[in-house]
Amino acid sequence: MKCPFCSNSETQVMDSRVSENGDSVKRRRKCVSCEKRFSTFETVEIKMPSVIKISGAREEFSLEKIQNGFSKALYRRPVNSSDIDLSISNIHNSIYNLGKREVNSNYIGQLVMNELMKLDKVAYIRFASVYKDFKDIDDFGTEINNIKSQDWEKLFNKDEKKYMRMVLNLAKKGLYSSMPNPRVGCVIVKNKQILSEGWHVKPGDDHAEIVALKKCKKKNQRSYNVCKFRTL
Ligand SMILES: [Zn+2]
Repeated sequence: MKCPFCSNSETQVMDSRVSENGDSVKRRRKCVSCEKRFSTFETVEIKMPSVIKISGAREEFSLEKIQNGFSKALYRRPVNSSDIDLSISNIHNSIYNLGKREVNSNYIGQLVMNELMKLDKVAYIRFASVYKDFKDIDDFGTEINNIKSQDWEKLFNKDEKKYMRMVLNLAKKGLYSSMPNPRVGCVIVKNKQILSEGWHVKPGDDHAEIVALKKCKKKNQRSYNVCKFRTL
């Protein structure tokens, strides 16, 4: 480190101090020639990749643009700022950790959507409508249905999904006969074993779960400590 006063190239470090948040080091130095003192700061250099826009043009990565996108999408939404900061820093880190010199703007948009989806579904839809360039109300409907089906996926584990599919298929059997009642299916499960199943056939007949429970009884299976899966 050259002395800023006399340009002598030899300096002596008198003191080193790490900053409070740990991201920089301050060093107090003394020039061995003119003996004047000065400080230097050392920080990590983070080189973010440049962004390739859809048009093919390159631009500098801008965290501010991402922050703006977040604040527009989250306008008046009940999300606290520390969660927002965490999301933005997740995006920043994901892009940095790619270790690439260039990154597609699409990729960044996708990261933003993933984070917004976790934070707030309304904000997600707002952002997606602009980002994916929704043309009409049907585009909103499609996206909202996607969100709902993803939630459905998260609600159940693998076995439970299997039972729910069975139940939905059972319910379908009553598609026409059960009217005007809703179509309902039910399976009774104990320790991952299906004890019985039932569906609602027609108005006035036993409901799906009664059908299933009666079958259990017939087989002399006790229907306690069981799991009942049914639609409706
Ligand atoms: Zn000097």
